[in-house]
Amino acid sequence: MTTTTTPQPALQPCASAPRQGPHDRPQTMCPAFGALRVGLRMRRTATILSGSACCVYGLTFTSHFYGARRSVGYVPFDSETLVTGQLFEEVHAAVHQQADPHKHDAVVVINLCVPTASGVPLRLLPKEINGVRIIGLDVPGFGVATHAEAKDILAGAMLKYARGEAEQGPVQAPRGGRSDKPTVTLVGEMFPADPVGIGALLQPLGLNCGPVVPTREWRELYAALDGTAIAAIHPFYTNALHEFAVAGRPIVGSAPVGHDGTAAWLESIGSACGVTSAKVAAAKQQWLPAIQGVLAQAPIRGRITLSGYEGSELLVARLLVESGADVRYVGTACPRTPWSAPDREWLAAKGVMVSYRASLEQDLQAMDEFQPDLVIGTTPVVQAAKQQAIPALYFTNLISARPLMGPAGAGSLAQVINTALANQSRFDAMHAFFGDTGQGHAAGIWEDTPQDRPEFRANYRRQLARQAAQRRSVGGAA
Ligand code: SF4
Repeated sequence: MTTTTTPQPALQPCASAPRQGPHDRPQTMCPAFGALRVGLRMRRTATILSGSACCVYGLTFTSHFYGARRSVGYVPFDSETLVTGQLFEEVHAAVHQQADPHKHDAVVVINLCVPTASGVPLRLLPKEINGVRIIGLDVPGFGVATHAEAKDILAGAMLKYARGEAEQGPVQAPRGGRSDKPTVTLVGEMFPADPVGIGALLQPLGLNCGPVVPTREWRELYAALDGTAIAAIHPFYTNALHEFAVAGRPIVGSAPVGHDGTAAWLESIGSACGVTSAKVAAAKQQWLPAIQGVLAQAPIRGRITLSGYEGSELLVARLLVESGADVRYVGTACPRTPWSAPDREWLAAKGVMVSYRASLEQDLQAMDEFQPDLVIGTTPVVQAAKQQAIPALYFTNLISARPLMGPAGAGSLAQVINTALANQSRFDAMHAFFGDTGQGHAAGIWEDTPQDRPEFRANYRRQLARQAAQRRSVGGAA
């Protein structure tokens, strides 16, 4: 296996980072999308939004773009229903309407920004109607940093509810019956082949792969809570992991990615599940040479910066480094948690800078600083890279949509990455052909090229500097 060790980079906090942006947080799509998506992917679950029509339009559009194939309920409001409290009554009526036990196990109601800020009290909704569970959540953009963490908010609320039910008495068994072996519950939305690959890795340990949280069905929540150990594949699911911890389940961080990641993960899972060291050694013997062989056959050569908001960024970076890539920077919009510590430490030891809660400006600064051959990132990062004629790949659609775990994951990135790297000459040709056409103030299609007015911007800058100086002097006086 080839890994590249670079000196620890000296990237400084970005001077232009948006410390006073709308939410003072990483840029993200509407966070409520994460919770909405989790609800829409569950069988026999109705999802209702309460919020501004423009927000609901965007959220339903995105849901259907990602193949929801399910109606989204909506309780609209106006100033009057909001301020008089009638909106809550209408949400209450909508929930009753949807709580049909023949159709639904659960109804999820999500307060968007305005109803949350106005204090529409979803916690006063009944917990259950006709045997249908009712789950009300506030998921405002000003309170939840990323859409990834909104998935955790709903998953955690459902686990809490299901844990309470399991504590009261017998609950439904999973579809297909209980596992004949101890199981490992996986936490995090991943490529569909990954749970299958993880299941194969667990076989020599005498373990089965349990449900994946967020689950696709209510009854799977009980089986998830019943896992012998919990694998925090995506480390930002802090609410869900809290429920597992309360249920007394050991939690294992990181994931079986590449050679080193798989070796460490098998050891941690073996220890959490009380598997003998001989069995762990046998599992490593079975899988590690195969992973090493695949990595050697699919090398990646090139300097890469990487950023995203899915929560799997550190795992992808590990795989790239083990494939031979010179990875300099990993930015994730998700927060730092104990469950990503093994990945952060491993990457730091290879000289890779890891930035949690990374802003767009930090991601762009990393691109400028490290001059990569390939940029993997969010839409605006990819756009900025392509404008500079640097090949770039969109993390969510092109990297997240591949297996990462075990032998199947080891070689899965090489083809897409190497194809993108090989595109440099095409970018150079396009750059040479178009030159500076359509840059900056002249971007877009015009009959007359717009006239740049740099004096206007200079004027704004002077005014902003004056205001900032005034604020500083007032703050100093106080
Ligand atoms: S205003 Fe709030 S609910 Fe609406 S789109 Fe923005 S973050 Fe989402």
